[in-house]
Amino acid sequence: MLETTIAGSLPKPFWLAQPKMLWAPWAQTGEALVEAKRDATLLVLKEQEDAGIDIVTEGEQSRQHFVHGFLEQIEGIDFARRVAMGIRNNRYTAEVPTVTAPLRRKRPVHRTEAALARAHTRRKLKFTLPGPMTIVDTIADQHYGDRVTMAMRFAELLNEEARELEALGVDVIQFDEPAFNVYMAEVKDWGIAALHRAIEGLRCKTAVHICYGYGIKANIDWKASLGGEWRQYEEIFPALAQSRIDQVSLECINSRVPLRLVELLKGKDVLLGAIDVATDRIETPEEVAATLRRALDFVPAERLQACTNCGMAPLDRGVAYAKLQALGAGAKLLRQELGHAH
Ligand code: ZN
Repeated sequence: MLETTIAGSLPKPFWLAQPKMLWAPWAQTGEALVEAKRDATLLVLKEQEDAGIDIVTEGEQSRQHFVHGFLEQIEGIDFARRVAMGIRNNRYTAEVPTVTAPLRRKRPVHRTEAALARAHTRRKLKFTLPGPMTIVDTIADQHYGDRVTMAMRFAELLNEEARELEALGVDVIQFDEPAFNVYMAEVKDWGIAALHRAIEGLRCKTAVHICYGYGIKANIDWKASLGGEWRQYEEIFPALAQSRIDQVSLECINSRVPLRLVELLKGKDVLLGAIDVATDRIETPEEVAATLRRALDFVPAERLQACTNCGMAPLDRGVAYAKLQALGAGAKLLRQELGHAH
């Protein structure tokens, strides 16, 4: 009970990519890049293990961005035709590639880093993929002409990838769906159906991560506009509770999410954000334990996991690792308090 995990990404070392930014350019090319990705992956596994993280990830060290890392290996997407598009309901503008032909997976996308991570840790391994709704919100379309049709096609490709990851020994496959907090009606119409298509036939644990975004200015401004209570989860959690997804990862610490909304996820594992990724201030283990303890009013301890609010990719590396330590230590404190010394 009270296992620890992270939302997914960790900062990349300076010799792999430019630090402290999203879409960071790689610092190497060719064979040197392959080697740097490999080395960085081994380091993030070690850092997580030493911090007491039970369910580790490869830290997304081999992809430039959580959506486009997957899209780069998909045929039918023209990366030369980049257009500036408002995404997440125009919260910000991104340069996105365009779908111009039927979508097909050219090759396994994440096999190399998943196999590497599996070979070098005995901990449970989680692997993150972008969710279908978030993908179609982060790409231009000149072929399908319909978001739902295109999302279902992406879900099929994600399912092919997920089945291979499971076969490599991945224990948890998580789909990142920040778009679920933006298009709540569509989540119920087709977002969860697309996730079901993406997890078809999987026997491993499946998760969905739904957050309020990285700690960048556009997101901080958006959060400030959401009022005294953030109730987006209230609209989608009942539908998720009815779904076949096993786990839901959500934002909590320093957010205005009413904690009792967690109750709406009855029957699911709750991955509670006890680490804020939008600040460099390091949480204390006591703060982490306090956040988790408050959630115990709404979810049983055996269904609660200590997690981060979101990915830590844009953070300073030292800050991120200090936060990992706090996460591991905070969960341990609470386990001891509840009489399950670890
Ligand atoms: Zn997130």
